[in-house]
Amino acid sequence: MANTNDRICIIGGGPAGLACAVYLEKKGYTDYVVYEKQGKVGGKCWSPKIKVRHNGVEEEKSFETGAIMGAITYHAVSEMEEFGGYFHKGPDFKPGEPNMRREFRTLDGAVDHPFEPKVNFSIKKMLGLLKLKKQMKKLNELMQTKYVGYDCYGHLGVAKGEYYGISKGVDGYCGATKENSFPNYIKGSNPNLKDLALPFSEFCKLNGVEEVQRIWIAPFTSFGYGFFDEIPAALVMKYLDVTTALEFVNMKLWTWQDGTQAIYEHVNAKLQHPAVLETEVVKVERPEGKVLVTVRSKDGVETTETFDKLIVTTPLDYFKDYADATAEETELFSKIIHERYCDYIATFEPGKSPNISGYMVDNMVPERLGHAMVYYNRWQYLDRDCPATVYALANHTGSPDVDFDTVMTTMDADMKRVGFPIKEKLFAQEVYYCPHVSAADYAAGWYDRLEALQGCKNTYYAGEIISFGDMEDTCAASKDIIGRFF
Ligand SMILES: Cc1cc2nc3c(=O)[nH]c(=O)nc-3n(C[C@H](O)[C@H](O)[C@H](O)COP(=O)(O)OP(=O)(O)OC[C@H]3O[C@@H](n4cnc5c(N)ncnc54)[C@H](O)[C@@H]3O)c2cc1C
Repeated sequence: MANTNDRICIIGGGPAGLACAVYLEKKGYTDYVVYEKQGKVGGKCWSPKIKVRHNGVEEEKSFETGAIMGAITYHAVSEMEEFGGYFHKGPDFKPGEPNMRREFRTLDGAVDHPFEPKVNFSIKKMLGLLKLKKQMKKLNELMQTKYVGYDCYGHLGVAKGEYYGISKGVDGYCGATKENSFPNYIKGSNPNLKDLALPFSEFCKLNGVEEVQRIWIAPFTSFGYGFFDEIPAALVMKYLDVTTALEFVNMKLWTWQDGTQAIYEHVNAKLQHPAVLETEVVKVERPEGKVLVTVRSKDGVETTETFDKLIVTTPLDYFKDYADATAEETELFSKIIHERYCDYIATFEPGKSPNISGYMVDNMVPERLGHAMVYYNRWQYLDRDCPATVYALANHTGSPDVDFDTVMTTMDADMKRVGFPIKEKLFAQEVYYCPHVSAADYAAGWYDRLEALQGCKNTYYAGEIISFGDMEDTCAASKDIIGRFF
């Protein structure tokens, strides 16, 4: 039963946690606390400022270690922007803004033009592109007809051939109105949706659209979301629905001048209760009717607070390590798997940094695990003086993991081979990324079991696992949880 006087604890000050706070406020709740273990908000939206020098001028610019871009389909993120009063640039960029440009590179460094029929023309290439175009059209039609209902946020009912969630809608606000942020749920039954539990490669084969993987692979696998032989099609198509995928192809994307972290810093600054930083939740006990949350400050001091409800936006597979998890929670959460996505920001030998972002598609296969798949050039005007972020995946179901140090040296060698020798790494990390469940667990109804747990022991689950590991899906998942249960 909704009670706006309830005291609510939110674990995590990333996009999901802050979005929970925003939507709680929109519903009239005033007594909530967001605990964030780091000294900053934004989670994996982390945009450090780095000193750069170009034409003798030194200045500080934002770079991205995590989230970079959005698209017209980022409705929930638009609501965060509006709340915080801080907005994206693009898709049409002015000089000096972090615009989006990219090229394709072979592993030997040659610039490739896989989608331009006239460059390196051959009949084979032409026929391949015609086939691709035909299959893109076919997939688009199938998603609107055979798979109607696929494009709402989240996975409720999909394994049973049903759909229920916030419609991705139109024109911002997740299809809702400016006055009321919460309507616009769609619900229905469509047995074909069960196909979405299949790994994406099998889903494409089933529907005779295998070629489309050539389009989807760059903004999916190189962005760390895993390989198509393992990831359920639902994750691929809910993130890269046809509209969003085409925005990627046509480079109609959004970025933020001060980085994606700035979205959440602005949101946090406008909240009635900004996140409590450097405060890690280390214990959760849930006796009848209450939630006791123990937090540890940066000085190591532990205190326990009492709440009516708890919202967990942090990795659920770790929740059982510090909470009094039930047998069902423990069993369910132990099935979660995540990607090991690694990246670094580096400077390059003088005059040798990439001055445009690049995909290395040949490295986006499990056999090339640990190799650089993509590099991101953020500031065009810095030309060959701009540091770049480089990314690789370190795990794949059925293959041995690659250790972090090996990934780092492998990426260095890859960048050198394509003509961009690295001078210095300014920053490097491995990230807990894209939590999901296997195709088999998805088909067995994992998400419906999670839904059955929502509200038990006064606990609600939000964050990346609910829909997908991007800014939009995490903020939309928070909107859904607050909308339905609070
Ligand atoms: C390299 C990279 C590129 C990306 N590119 C994009 C992109 O271009 N577009 C896009 O939309 N998304 C992108 N993403 C994904 C996006 O950043 C995430 O999906 C999003 O940040 C998830 O938000 P979240 O709040 O669910 O989790 P997180 O961002 O992980 O935030 C969780 C927060 O919880 C805190 N926390 C954890 N445990 C505790 C605890 N016990 N107590 C207190 N606090 C705790 C963490 O410190 C963290 O701040 C990218 C991510 C990475 C890493």
